[in-house]
Amino acid sequence: MEQKLLPFALQDVPRYTSYPTAVQFQDGFPAGLADQWLAELRPTASLSAYVHVPFCQQLCWYCGCHTSVPNSYGRASTYVDSLIRDITRSGTISGARKGNVQHLHFGGGTPTYLSNADLGRILACINGSFGLAPGAEIALESDPRGITRDRAFGLAAMGFNRISFGVQDFALPVQMKINRLQTYGLVAHVTTLLREAGFASINFDLMYGLPAQTVGSVRQTAQQAAALRPNRIAVFGYAHVPWFKKHQRMISDAELPGVSERYEQASAIAEELVGAGYIAIGLDHFALPDDALAVVASTGTLRRNFQGYTTDTADALIAFGASAISEFPQGFAQAARDTLAWSEAITDGKSPVMRGLATTAEDRMRTAIIEQIMCNFAADIGQIADRHGFNNTMLKDSLFRLQPLVEAGLTNINGSTVRVPKEHRLFLRSVACAFDSHYTGAKNRHAKAI
Ligand code: SF4
Repeated sequence: MEQKLLPFALQDVPRYTSYPTAVQFQDGFPAGLADQWLAELRPTASLSAYVHVPFCQQLCWYCGCHTSVPNSYGRASTYVDSLIRDITRSGTISGARKGNVQHLHFGGGTPTYLSNADLGRILACINGSFGLAPGAEIALESDPRGITRDRAFGLAAMGFNRISFGVQDFALPVQMKINRLQTYGLVAHVTTLLREAGFASINFDLMYGLPAQTVGSVRQTAQQAAALRPNRIAVFGYAHVPWFKKHQRMISDAELPGVSERYEQASAIAEELVGAGYIAIGLDHFALPDDALAVVASTGTLRRNFQGYTTDTADALIAFGASAISEFPQGFAQAARDTLAWSEAITDGKSPVMRGLATTAEDRMRTAIIEQIMCNFAADIGQIADRHGFNNTMLKDSLFRLQPLVEAGLTNINGSTVRVPKEHRLFLRSVACAFDSHYTGAKNRHAKAI
């Protein structure tokens, strides 16, 4: 990495899976407002649904998710009972016509911690309360260590058609440092099983910036992953935040690669995946050329939401489970992070929403600019401001913040179009950040750019 890029690489910047980011959500957000937004959905509104499952069999030391390891399955069963009550209650309130859910995503944690029977109960409840559209994408995150032949075929029979799992790194020394042991043979076997079961799409997650990783080791992992031909591969940088995620204290700061090494690792993975025939998409995704994500990226219609890059164009995202975030045209509503507080609200027949934000017209204009930069490497800010009823002179502060990035060659401005050269994809978040009017630069609120 060129020396002049170092200050940008070290900057703490949001991932922009939403704008404003979750850091801006306010505590004590009126739960009644979230119910009102749900009721105000147009009958024709297209929907996405998300279900959060905050359980895993075992904790990986690098994990940044909202999850825990229950001491018995009973806790998960009780959680599913609460989910069913919450989905049913929300379905009764929703103003959207049934049958408009086009994407349903189970995330976590490890959704496959739940039995197929419990996953089936949730699926049936969402279908009964909101209705899945014909051909809906039904996706789940999973842990390959828990996928047997029976499970794979059972999930496919229920209607799941897309699956994602964490590979991170195939090297044993790395796996030992992060408390996640899974052999290449296991991942290859599970990938074959899922294909035989009929899954239309398989996604792998890889990571860089982990202890014991080197440019050579991540290169080898990328080659091995690509050889299994998953439809999509997402590549994330490890975010070391032990003050926020206490189990990350099991990873020693001293063993972590520095920022230049992280940059080299991310670049090496990208080089291997592109060399193996994958299309680079946005900041950190790769897809086979015939994958839907690659197709929408080529037509400039790629989107970004809480799950990362997506083909999803829904008008609203309705989310269920502890810490889950719903997105409405009017703003965001987040359920209680604490599972007990979340289930108590539901038992009392109330909304579990405890944080949120009503967005302004200016927020929505900035959302459009940031999403265009993150997805398409370019945004015509004059055109977007105009479309949202603003004069682009109100973006002069953003253009001022962009100047150092222009001088470093990370972005260029032509007329009213801001563009990021593709070779600088790892700095997309830094460029997007110039348009974030809520960003304060405070330390330790976001992960580093690289
Ligand atoms: S399986 Fe996934 S969600 Fe669970 S601890 Fe590991 S990384 Fe976190």
